[in-house]
Amino acid sequence: MNILTFDIEDWYNCDFISGDFDWDKYEVRIYKGIDRILEELDKRKVKGTFFCLGWIAEKHPDVIKKIDSFGHHIGCHSYQHELAFRFDARGFKSDTEKSKKLLEDLVGREVDAYRAPGFSITEKNTWAFEVLSELGFKYDCSIFPSDHDYGGFPSFGRAEPVLLQLGNGAVLKEFPINMINFMGKDLVFSGGGFFRLFPYVLIKKWSRQSPYLMTYFHTRDFDPDQPMIESLPLMRKFKSYVGLKRAFSKFQKYLNDFDFLNIQQADSMMDWGTKRVVKV
Ligand SMILES: [Zn+2]
Repeated sequence: MNILTFDIEDWYNCDFISGDFDWDKYEVRIYKGIDRILEELDKRKVKGTFFCLGWIAEKHPDVIKKIDSFGHHIGCHSYQHELAFRFDARGFKSDTEKSKKLLEDLVGREVDAYRAPGFSITEKNTWAFEVLSELGFKYDCSIFPSDHDYGGFPSFGRAEPVLLQLGNGAVLKEFPINMINFMGKDLVFSGGGFFRLFPYVLIKKWSRQSPYLMTYFHTRDFDPDQPMIESLPLMRKFKSYVGLKRAFSKFQKYLNDFDFLNIQQADSMMDWGTKRVVKV
């Protein structure tokens, strides 16, 4: 099962270091970025899940409306693109609720899927899942089942969809990110820096070996002309800007070589009775 997802934010929205949320001053590149993705998906009649930032919904509503008009599944990627564990439960709820409402007002439907910025739901802030269920989300895609710069949930076990059994009795369907063990290290290859860094032949091989594949792309992954965020630490800079020139043609090959589903389509094909139940 191969799942296609995107995190919809512009090049300046992903800076967890400087604390600069004064984003109006930056050059807007998201319109161009989203158009070329939508065109590629439309050519192949493929549907994805797009986790959209509430801030983008507020400032650039046409981006969200356009994604929706192509029949894709709209999810929520927070309002402010702040790491979930930097909030308390109340702050997390208000950020998430604000974004969910903005998105729902634009698409006229309930937004039922969530992904935290930087995969930042960890073993220490599992209260976030209860907040998500209180807000009416059915799906979460925030778990990174290994160590990660900003998040990580190493105790999650095998990277596969599970039912999260919450303390308040509710259940969330979890679609985590997946990875491959490469030279003793867990690597995510189906999106972000490593998708851009590794040759396509390896990406293809690892994807074929993965019974469950969760991709995650951004418009900036395919934009070699974007300005650089100078405040990022060196390693993060490398991960953010490596391989930008060739990434879009890799993405096109990926779409040609694999069949992809969005979260709702994947859910309808799952036999949840056979899946693990994870208590959080
Ligand atoms: Zn993000």
